[in-house]
Amino acid sequence: MQTIVIVGGGAGGLELATRLGNGLGKQGRARIVLVDRWPTHFWKPLLHAVASGKLDPQVHQVQYSAQAAEHHFQFVCGEVTAIDRQAHCIDIGPYCGEDGVEVLPRRTLHYDKLVLAFGAVTNFFNIPGAAEHSLTLDSVQQAEIFRKRFLGSCMAASSHGAYGNQAQAVVNIVIVGGGATGVELAAELNHTVQTLARYNVHSLDPARDVRISIIERGERMLPPLHPALSKRAARHLRGLGVDVCTDTTVARVEADAVIDSTGRRHASDITMWAAGVEGPAIATTLGLPLNRLKQIVVTPGLQTEMDADIFAIGDCASHVCPVRGAAVPPRAQVAHQQAMFLAEVLSRPGQSGLPNFHYRDYGSLVSLGPSKAVGVLAGSMTGREVLVGGLTARLLYRLMYHKHVMSLHGFMRMAAETLSHWIRTKVTPPVKLH
Ligand SMILES: Cc1cc2nc3c(=O)[nH]c(=O)nc-3n(C[C@H](O)[C@H](O)[C@H](O)COP(=O)(O)OP(=O)(O)OC[C@H]3O[C@@H](n4cnc5c(N)ncnc54)[C@H](O)[C@@H]3O)c2cc1C
Repeated sequence: MQTIVIVGGGAGGLELATRLGNGLGKQGRARIVLVDRWPTHFWKPLLHAVASGKLDPQVHQVQYSAQAAEHHFQFVCGEVTAIDRQAHCIDIGPYCGEDGVEVLPRRTLHYDKLVLAFGAVTNFFNIPGAAEHSLTLDSVQQAEIFRKRFLGSCMAASSHGAYGNQAQAVVNIVIVGGGATGVELAAELNHTVQTLARYNVHSLDPARDVRISIIERGERMLPPLHPALSKRAARHLRGLGVDVCTDTTVARVEADAVIDSTGRRHASDITMWAAGVEGPAIATTLGLPLNRLKQIVVTPGLQTEMDADIFAIGDCASHVCPVRGAAVPPRAQVAHQQAMFLAEVLSRPGQSGLPNFHYRDYGSLVSLGPSKAVGVLAGSMTGREVLVGGLTARLLYRLMYHKHVMSLHGFMRMAAETLSHWIRTKVTPPVKLH
């Protein structure tokens, strides 16, 4: 029986493991193994909501072991540190608990087919000080660090002057990158500040005490989207009091400021770097061809170029769409479609020649807070591009997550979870405070 190992249980990897488990695993035709460095899965597009305190990540996490038991695959917890392509083995580092004590030792795992789905990491573009002085949104842990620092700063600012507190009166948040992540985070943070002022941190004055800025190198926000949507998003953010700086290139980041190429100093207590992604360091150790963003170059069938037993999907892969001649974007939508494609391909071993993966772009949606979004529904769905906004776009945006949950757990569980989350929002504080 062959062993199919999937490295990374994110948007692409977990769906692939679930689909293969439900098919090959259940029928006893292959051993399916998922490896991830964390014991739980969290859908990355919701990380900005964790960072702003709007979502409790524990409520939305999927435990890999439970998913594995229900869907006939095995889960191995630990970070993959090396891959020996000749021996068909991967090295998995020791797994330590929160107290740093080793729970699982270093291990080696054999594979017949290997699927790399380990995502991407923040790209600092070698800007001096960026990696040292910025936070990122690569994982739940990082989103939680941001949330705690943000809430702490708001509390300190709101009690400025009281009890002899010498804390700074104003909290400056600078978000570098005016793409979807930056825009969504700015809108969500603004909502959190309003909520804190109303419910929890009584003397916080949102307009006076918190300044949120976005710095974007391009001439408009949301550069890959339709210009009309960029305008709408920028107008909305400015209306919320966010300082939107386009055409601004970051030259360096310091502990308390972001300096742009004109020498202007943007005071910053917390800098969030959301300016782009690249392949993780492990991708560079495999001896496989990479693109300039360190993503693994794959064939039209998602196989790596030099090793027919290794496939790559999602953000860590560079797949050039043969029709458009451009690389598909690093999006959950792509990871999902590639997982579906590969589940089909790997379920029919022995078939001569791999089919080609074709990406269907259904459009993009960007959240502008709890009741608004903007986006475009692509031609493949409606026959022509349709711009959407307001509550309709926000509902469609929510559907994306429900679709992901449905692909993992089926319709009934998705409906039950949606209802239970809705009830939870009615009985818990609107912002996670601890
Ligand atoms: C804040 C934010 C908002 C976003 N919004 C959207 C959106 O609205 N729409 C959209 O389509 N996309 C969005 N994206 C992009 C989307 O999240 C990614 O494209 C998608 O998650 C990629 O899926 P993936 O499976 O390739 O990787 P990921 O989902 O990143 O999963 C990678 C997994 O690999 C694991 N891993 C990494 N390295 C190792 C290792 N060495 N060993 C073991 N495990 C490892 C990680 O723990 C993780 O579980 C957003 C991203 C962010 C950060």
